[in-house]
Formats: sequence, structure tokens, C-alpha cells
Amino acid sequence: MILTVVLIIAAAALAFGLWFCWACATPSSTFFRPVLHRGPREGKRVSLTFDDGPSVQFTEQVLDVLREHNVPATFFVCGKNVENHPDLLRRIVADGHEVGNHTYSHLCLFFRSRRRMAEEIDRTQGIIEKVAGLRPRIFRPPYGARWFGLIPTLLERHMHLILWSAAGYDWKKDVQGITQAVLRGLKPGAVILLHDGRETRDTAEIDRSRTVLALPAIIAGIHRQGYVFAPLRDFLPST
Ligand SMILES: [Zn+2]
Repeated sequence: MILTVVLIIAAAALAFGLWFCWACATPSSTFFRPVLHRGPREGKRVSLTFDDGPSVQFTEQVLDVLREHNVPATFFVCGKNVENHPDLLRRIVADGHEVGNHTYSHLCLFFRSRRRMAEEIDRTQGIIEKVAGLRPRIFRPPYGARWFGLIPTLLERHMHLILWSAAGYDWKKDVQGITQAVLRGLKPGAVILLHDGRETRDTAEIDRSRTVLALPAIIAGIHRQGYVFAPLRDFLPST
């Protein structure tokens, strides 16, 4: 009898733990809301986003491809990377793309205090404003990890929490795999996740050549399926 009760409690605890991990880490989870992981279903629009930049070489290569194909995108940048490469952020803005906050140091927000999260967000907002003269209204947490206190911290700052619905898995797949992953995830309103940098690592440790090589095929595939690229701001609730 006691064993049964213990087993039931253990199973319940395990189930709760699994659900909780899902709620904190899965992009489509709405446990921490408001959150946008996908735009409106009306119209065949998708939005392209790049995380972890700016980085030497790869951000510029991504920008070149986007310019060639006249595609708008959003760059969720880390404050530390912007400090190291301010000119790259200025080019992102000059090319007409949107900028989002991706923390200062690419910190995983699990178990972080509200104060620590605010520090990371505010420091990055300050750097972006100093370099590019704008304050982002969108935030994407590193690894998609959300924690208690994040939403109120963002709401105080009138910022939106943005995740994604179609990942390219460009941290592990080859060029063809990245392209297929994105195209398989396409739905009206899809928010596509790719990377033009790698956390806040040194230049020598960053290789996003596969993302750059996949990008023209991704753009062509999206057009072929009859979708158009929309800026992420078009997916936000109008306030
Ligand atoms: Zn990231």
C-alpha cells in the first residue's frame, strides 16, 4: 500500500517535472505569456530571424544574401557582440532590418533572479541605443528558455517575448538539412529561426557558413511555396 502511494507520488512528480520542462523550454508553450512564436494565420507570410550576432564575416554574408533577394529579417543580437562589432549592427539597421534583444551575455535564464534578467536586458538595450539609436521592442531568450519574472520584466519595458515556430537547426545540420528543416516547418505566420553568430564566442569559434549557404535555397523554397517575407513587426499585436 505504502509502495503504491510512493509510486503514484513519484509518477506525479515526474509528470509535473516533464510538463514544467516543456513549459519553460518549448517554443510553442504558452505557459509564460504573452508570447509570440508564430504570426497571424491570414495571408501566406513568414518572417525570418537570426540569433546570436553580430559576428565577423557571417553577419555580413547573411546581409548580402538578404539584400540580393530583397528580403527583410530580424536580428536578435547579444549586447556583448554589439560592443565588439558596432559597425555590423549599424549595417543591419542601415539595410532596413529589425533588431531584437537577445541578452548581453547569451545567458540561459533558468533559475535567474528577476534582477539578473533585467540587468541583461537593460544593458543590451543601452548598448543598442548607443550604437544604432534605437531601443528594441522585442526580446528572444537564449535557448528559448523562459523563467518566472521574465514576462513582468518585459512588460515593464513594453517589450514582446518572441520565440519561433520553424527552426533550421543550423547548429547541427548540414546545408541541405537546414534548408529542409525550415521548408518543412513552413506554415502561414511561421517565424523562422537561424543563426548569424554563436552565443558570445570568439570569432575563431564561429562558423555559420552552412547557414549562409542554405539561405538562398531557403528563400527560393519559400517563394516557390507562394509565401512572402514579412517584417516581424507586422506579426506583433498592434498597440
Ligand atoms: Zn541564442
